[in-house]
Amino acid sequence: MAEVELRAVTKSFGKVAVCKGVDLQVADGEFVTLLGPSGCGKTTTLNLIAGLEDASAGDILIGGRRVNDLTPFERDVAMVFQNYALYPHMTVAENIGFTLRLRGIAREAVRQRVAAVAESLELGPVLHRVPAQLSGGQQQRVALGRAIIREPQVFLFDEPFSNLDAGLRIKMRAEVKELHQRLGVTSIFVTHDQEEALSLSDRIAVMREGRVEQFGTPAEVYTRPVSKYVARFIGSPPLEFLSGRVESEGGLPVFRVGAAAFPLSLKTAERLVQGGQNCALGARPEHVLLGSSGIRATVRLAQPVGPATFVTLSWEGGELTARVPGMATFAAGSAVHFQVDREEHLMFFDDHQGRRMAME
Ligand code: ATP
Repeated sequence: MAEVELRAVTKSFGKVAVCKGVDLQVADGEFVTLLGPSGCGKTTTLNLIAGLEDASAGDILIGGRRVNDLTPFERDVAMVFQNYALYPHMTVAENIGFTLRLRGIAREAVRQRVAAVAESLELGPVLHRVPAQLSGGQQQRVALGRAIIREPQVFLFDEPFSNLDAGLRIKMRAEVKELHQRLGVTSIFVTHDQEEALSLSDRIAVMREGRVEQFGTPAEVYTRPVSKYVARFIGSPPLEFLSGRVESEGGLPVFRVGAAAFPLSLKTAERLVQGGQNCALGARPEHVLLGSSGIRATVRLAQPVGPATFVTLSWEGGELTARVPGMATFAAGSAVHFQVDREEHLMFFDDHQGRRMAME
């Protein structure tokens, strides 16, 4: 096991800069996700760590050792790919044991280790099949087995579940999390699925255009996003922003969005005014409470999803989503009142740069 560190790593393909100075410190045994939209440089960053691409500049360290000039094999990392990359003509047992055979380990010793790994991944009954005779989930487990058996210092996962259907993806997610809890091997996992990142990671690096925009625990990136970009990328449904300004209403400060006035403490109002008055507000649906008092709005849409219902509220000049528990029904067009449960759950961003305005 080992820590992984990237210091100002850049990578260009011809004139196209893909990684523009990636800094990242992954602790020994930590599970870190690189999260971001398509094209932000996640896979390239992972390939740089694996040694499948050479960095244009910057340092890559594994276990405190600079590895920029080492081959992928010398870096002692195991990568699990999106397309599994199994050998089609080999059986499951041969696929899993292949790298050990390459290292010259005796046939019987390999057989025993393959059996143990296969057992832990519930692949025992299919050891003698070839990949084409397996389901997608089983193929991905074989790819995991092939990585595990090497006992590497670091696991690298490149969107390993993206070819699986939704149900299987959630099952495999749990398996990978349990595997990490059991083996404790430093892991770096690439995904564009925010829910996958939140549920798996010790920390998430949210990437934007070749840089890490925020690196924090799932709770930090969800509750204290540094920017509109992070706030919108994490959480489902995506956060909406309401442009507004601080005003005084009956002598008390409020944040006005069209016809709606969100009450503010004097301290918050002062901070916002110092920051330039015009800013954007975001509130997570679970903090938007429906009730008999508060701001008056109209139900535009109700979307039940099982454990909760997302209710889109609209008023003159604004719109916000509330989350109510269970399978609720709301008639479109009906009148409701809502409020945000606590002032600290009002997230403010400057309208210009999109940075979070610190209230602490
Ligand atoms: P995705 O989720 O779509 O894989 P990503 O965040 O992993 O996205 P990368 O695969 O790292 O992004 O690609 C980032 C950018 O670099 C893309 O615009 C891609 O076209 C470009 N790119 C990647 N590899 C190469 C290459 N070998 N040559 C030229 N351009 C490349």
